[in-house]
Amino acid sequence: MQVATFLAYLVAAVLFITGIRRLRKPGTARSGNTIAAFGMVIALVATFLVVEVDAAWVWLLIGVGILLGGVLGAASAQMVPMTAMPQMVAAFNGVGGGCIALVALSEFYQGAAETWVAVISGLLTVVIGSVSFAGSIVAFTKLQELAFTGSVVFPLQQVLNALIFVGILLLSANVLADGAIVEAVGAPFLSPLVSLYILFAASLVLGVLFVIPIGGADMPIVISLLNAFTGLAAAASGFVLGNYALLIGGTLVGASGTILTRLMSGALGRPLGKIIFAGITATATQKGDQQEDREVHDASPGEVGEYLSEEANKIVIVPGYGLAVAQAQGPMHDLMETLESRGKEVLFGIHPVAGRMPGHMNVLLTEAGVPYDKLYDLEDINPEFDDTDAAIIVGANDVVNPAANDPEQDTPISGMPILEVEKAKRVIFVKRSLSPGFAGVDNPLFYDTEKTMMLFSDAKQGLQEVVEAVKSA
Ligand code: NDP
Repeated sequence: MQVATFLAYLVAAVLFITGIRRLRKPGTARSGNTIAAFGMVIALVATFLVVEVDAAWVWLLIGVGILLGGVLGAASAQMVPMTAMPQMVAAFNGVGGGCIALVALSEFYQGAAETWVAVISGLLTVVIGSVSFAGSIVAFTKLQELAFTGSVVFPLQQVLNALIFVGILLLSANVLADGAIVEAVGAPFLSPLVSLYILFAASLVLGVLFVIPIGGADMPIVISLLNAFTGLAAAASGFVLGNYALLIGGTLVGASGTILTRLMSGALGRPLGKIIFAGITATATQKGDQQEDREVHDASPGEVGEYLSEEANKIVIVPGYGLAVAQAQGPMHDLMETLESRGKEVLFGIHPVAGRMPGHMNVLLTEAGVPYDKLYDLEDINPEFDDTDAAIIVGANDVVNPAANDPEQDTPISGMPILEVEKAKRVIFVKRSLSPGFAGVDNPLFYDTEKTMMLFSDAKQGLQEVVEAVKSA
């Protein structure tokens, strides 16, 4: 490798690490992103210095690829709304994993994987990259609610997973032994290359089967885990191709994805082993089930405004996904100011998986001008509910659903710590209907007519009307 390329990779690695470090705080996150992207440009240019291309049309192909990828990436980053960001992350992550798996396959095809290290790394790249690709595409369809919504389970699913996994191990051993294993058992048609293609297909199926049973509280964890997989696959491909940038970049993504996965599964009380190996034996209520015929307290904005003005002193607001969809952060800020001008204490309770991406609610509310010190994490806000007069839940369901703590139910949110709004004197939901949230689990709080007021409205319009009602009360 040329010295210039090696040094450029070193600079890129430093920029990646600096970028990731700056992502830790909202104030430095944007520059962190730019710095890491700049590192990627340096790594890309440096790679051109060492690639051996003998035909002009290959350069043309590379140019077209860069142009297409660049335009698609830039356009989707501009156009995709915040609420659809997890889908975009899942799709891009999947494309990365699939791309790395194909690169490794092509190295095998050209006979370039000659050493044991290269063969083992190549096998890992194909398997992990394909699992990540297929799993991420399924995650995309779930988040976009196109297919596989909720948890999809069928009899003997775990047995099938185990059989495919053993098959992958046997085929990998055959590739490693240069076809000797299948010759010994009388199946010489399974050449190492054919074994590799079957292994690739089996890994894709495993990726699909791994993600379809996952839903609700486990989705953010799984997205992060798939991210870690793609990083690990990229690092392994760095060994195959002898490329330091892939090795370092992949290791960084793999390590940070693994740390994030562990942190999230710990914070949400969802053991990783259960997510990966057990799936979910879901009995989640399907969207729309059990809602008819049950009585609720259907409140008007005027009634809510009157209660807040006259009977509530301490108020906790809980934002969720619907707030982001309705872009209601401005009216939510106005409600805070209006209530405070009437001498009320207003706090915000933010659940770690509220919305559809980590930190989603914090970003929206601080951009709307809500002071950072009013945003309370789960552990800090829960003790506050005991003496709270009104908990106003705007476009949220899963993060406040007491069904998560019901030992009688086994749902995709069972065991997830929730914001304990049911302890407040009054609970006020602002949402359009009795539909459950992402996990599809009905919320018993909706039907507590003594405690709960349901304000059926789009979050933005509903909050604007409540602000008016408080002002005129
Ligand atoms: P939920 O998905 O549980 O509930 C959102 C609610 O918003 C729905 O019940 C819907 O009810 C309501 N809603 C939708 N649009 C509007 C609107 N325009 N105005 C008013 N309400 C609206 O959201 P939560 O934030 O409580 O929970 C997040 C869920 O997403 C969790 O299950 C989490 O695991 C999952 N998730 C989180 C990720 C993350 O990283 N944060 C990533 C992936 C998934 P209605 O239709 O009746 O209005």
